[in-house]
Amino acid sequence: MNRPGDGRRRPQIAARHLLWAQIIGEVLRQGAFHAIEFLVRSRARPALGVARPFGDDALAYFTERLDVSAMRRALAGALKRAKRNKAFENSRFVGLALDGTGTGRCQAVGCRLCRPIWHAERGVVGQVHALSLLSIVGTGVVLPVDVEPYGPGDSELAASQRLLERAHEHLGPRFADHVVADGLYAAAPFLNRVRRLGLRAVVRLKENLPDLARAAQVRFDGRAPDLVFEHGGDRVEVWDAADFDPWGQLVWSTVRVIRYRQHKRNGTTVQADWLTDYPTAQVGSRALYALAKSRWEIENGVFNDAKNRYGLERIRHHHENSLLIGWLLICLALVIERLYRLRFLHRGGHHPRSAIALVRSLWLALGAPRLANSS
Ligand SMILES: [Zn+2]
Repeated sequence: MNRPGDGRRRPQIAARHLLWAQIIGEVLRQGAFHAIEFLVRSRARPALGVARPFGDDALAYFTERLDVSAMRRALAGALKRAKRNKAFENSRFVGLALDGTGTGRCQAVGCRLCRPIWHAERGVVGQVHALSLLSIVGTGVVLPVDVEPYGPGDSELAASQRLLERAHEHLGPRFADHVVADGLYAAAPFLNRVRRLGLRAVVRLKENLPDLARAAQVRFDGRAPDLVFEHGGDRVEVWDAADFDPWGQLVWSTVRVIRYRQHKRNGTTVQADWLTDYPTAQVGSRALYALAKSRWEIENGVFNDAKNRYGLERIRHHHENSLLIGWLLICLALVIERLYRLRFLHRGGHHPRSAIALVRSLWLALGAPRLANSS
């Protein structure tokens, strides 16, 4: 935080004030530069821990020049500290979910990351920014690790591979156990890379692997499930076989496939096939079902939250470095807020405080009169 990688030549305002104001702005769900300017020019500034006021233009100038690698290392450092402090001690496995998303739609090209949005008849109808995100899942607290943008000519899979390699370097070799991802990631080069990083893979099996999908169908169709259990009121059937042939260049000796059929209380049924290189002796069918389901945590706990509550969709300042810094700041704010609320505050048997309850209490604290420090 004190050495954030400030790229300004002659800074008037110390980097730590600008950076902290943005993090606390995200935690308060007021991350727009004008909102931060309003806060640091209000009487709440001392309580926010920001030493001096500044304008939104200072944030634009600062984020254009801030070093993203320092921000990424700060995120990784916070997560490594969380692991050392046993934030994940109640989980057998630490999962890493990978997924891509689009954000920051706009009308015209404003930076090198803008990707055209194509319409079949009307051609280019706007621009969007795309990013891959890596998140810790399956531990009871969903924590984003890092993001990697992919502009025009780049792809989600390529960006996600760069992201995973960098996170592996930053977090260290034995931080996590596996990667969990959707069917796009069922590509032999990607899975081989995951294996070389010392990680297992749990990936959705879909029609992009037609031979394996068909082999699983032949094996499981018309056969009684290997396991049936109740989970949260739903009845879950699981088929599990560990001896499918690897395809193409995949270095695995065999492929394990599970199929789950989840009969929900409302009468609907969800079915999906997943592939993995976890041996049956290490992860049973029921545990593997839970690992597959943990992929939803990146959708619900990161993308939905970050877009609907923390402004991931918004463009604060249309410059590629500012955008990337903004996305990383949202990740950092989520990590700080969740570790504080779910691990630091949540000691003992009581229910954890909800995110909105914490935000409201922070806002109330900002408006409270400050007592003179004269005992
Ligand atoms: Zn752009």
